[in-house]
Amino acid sequence: MAKTWIAGLALAISMGCAPHIPLYPAPVSTWPATRAASVQPCALMHLEVDESLSNGARGWFRGTWRQAYSSFVLRLGDRVVLIDAGLGEATPTDVDSAPWWFRLALGNAARPALGLAKLLKQAGIQPEQVTHVLLTHRHWDHTGGLRELPNARIVMASAEADAALAQREPFAEGAMSVHFQGLASRIDRLVFDGPPLLGFAASRDVFGDGSVIAVPTPGHTLGATSYLVQSPAGPRWLFIGDAAWVKEGFEEPVAKGYLAGSVADHDADQTAGTLGRLHAIAAAKLAHLVTSHDSRTWVDLPRCATASVAP
Ligand SMILES: [Zn+2]
Repeated sequence: MAKTWIAGLALAISMGCAPHIPLYPAPVSTWPATRAASVQPCALMHLEVDESLSNGARGWFRGTWRQAYSSFVLRLGDRVVLIDAGLGEATPTDVDSAPWWFRLALGNAARPALGLAKLLKQAGIQPEQVTHVLLTHRHWDHTGGLRELPNARIVMASAEADAALAQREPFAEGAMSVHFQGLASRIDRLVFDGPPLLGFAASRDVFGDGSVIAVPTPGHTLGATSYLVQSPAGPRWLFIGDAAWVKEGFEEPVAKGYLAGSVADHDADQTAGTLGRLHAIAAAKLAHLVTSHDSRTWVDLPRCATASVAP
């Protein structure tokens, strides 16, 4: 993603162009009943790189941010579920075939990444055991490992699936078409036909047992989706993908850095609306908000190890 020079450019370009982030009262949520057993998500870390925090949260000279590239694992009965598919073994090659400006921005940062299959095996999971991947969105750094999962159903918002499958260019709007090649028959489209939840207009109980509820959180991409994971007695996590990159985004709330946000977010106003909703959830402490790129938000969420994911 963006490197430090982008912060410098952003400094030069603009001050005061922040989109208005609407503020909302704490949402009144009737939690969906869950019939699932207790669940303990864990995190797979593909890569960490130092970034300017001013890219993740608009503002000057905020210091650095240890940017994570990640996926998350949930064991739900017989299901082995991932939230996003992070980076794959082929990611450095994928990046080599991206446009020059993208390679310039990313540099060689992705080269030392650990691929999804390797990380899963380290956690005691064979890639073929993964039954579902719940995609927060279709960007390259969330889909790089899809090709390493031969049996998984790929769950994503309908609009996001349409965009991914219609893409003809190798790289467009942050997505790589090669990541979805040959996977159309394994995509399950989410239809948000369930009741409002957490201030969002609709929801979808992904497995029908209350363990994972999807809500539409558009803006970063048109079909960006967040996933509420709940245990009967445990904490609740809301996996928000890239609706915010860093905790400052939903805590303050504040948009991404000017240039970084302009490049990465599909719709600034829609992103701001989603951020306002997420801020209300975080302020009321209704759930732990988990971003893909900021391990400081991984509360009660350990790194995956064989012991923590064994059945
Ligand atoms: Zn991302």
